[in-house]
Formats: sequence, C-alpha cells, structure tokens
Amino acid sequence: MASIFSKIASGEIPSYCCAADDEFYAFLDINPLVKGHTLVIPRREVDYLFDLSDDELARLQVFAAHVARAIRQVIPCVKVGQAVLGLEVPHAHIHLIPLQSERDMLFSNPKLQLPADEMQRIADDIRAAFRP
Ligand code: 5GP
Repeated sequence: MASIFSKIASGEIPSYCCAADDEFYAFLDINPLVKGHTLVIPRREVDYLFDLSDDELARLQVFAAHVARAIRQVIPCVKVGQAVLGLEVPHAHIHLIPLQSERDMLFSNPKLQLPADEMQRIADDIRAAFRP
C-alpha cells in the first residue's frame, strides 16, 4: 500500500505544495513547528532516508537546498535548519525549518495549527520564490 506521503506526492491526498519536479516533492508540514516548516521527499517510496542511493540522496539534498533558499526569501528567519527524524511516517523526508533561534528546532515544542488560507499563502509564496 502506498505511504501517505506517496499519496500526497501523487495528488491523491491534498497538500500545500512548495516545489515539485519529476523526482522530488516539497510541501508544508500539516502541524508545523513554525510558519514555513516544510517537508521534502523523494517520490520513490523508501522508508529510511539513509537507505537512498548516494546519487539520489545527493539530488534530494540539492533539491532541498533550493527549497530552503526559497523559504528564506519569504519567511523571516535567521537561517533555515534541516532535520531528519522519520519516526512517524515511513517515507524518507527532510524537515526544513525556518529558525529564529535553536528553540525553533525542538520537536517536543507544541505544534502550530494555521488557518488553511495562511498555509496556502505560505506555500504559494515559497513556490513563487523556488528556483530549481
Ligand atoms: P517524522 O516521521 O519525521 O517523525 O514526522 C513526520 C512529520 O510529518 C510530522 O512533522 C507531521 O506533522 C508530518 N505529517 C504527518 N502526516 C502528514 C500529512 O498527512 N500531511 C502533512 N502535510 N504532514 C504530515
């Protein structure tokens, strides 16, 4: 059965898309730590990020860097941080998190629930700033 993130990447389940190409897909985390918290996934379904081939991992990282640059242009932050957990969803993904301080990266923090129109606007802004 396809993972929830495969269904998101295929459009079967809706998401706030931030960037996409044939191989990778970026979308807003539904329960963000901060505004602009984005997930970047390979469309190919692999559970553990570090099981990707060296080449695929390198391409994913470059794609994520391009997404991070777009996030930094539209979300006020010092830098965009990157994290890998994968404890909840068994489909490899990178978290990109706009940081004002290291506390923004604490996954034990309460998650935000933003209105749909705000999530849509953030995703639209990131997509407009994204340069592959
Ligand atoms: P992890 O697997 O890295 O521990 O956490 C998975 C992340 O995916 C969490 O931050 C969670 O909020 C996010 N997430 C889980 N299900 C969905 C979903 O259906 N849509 C979106 N956009 N994010 C999700």
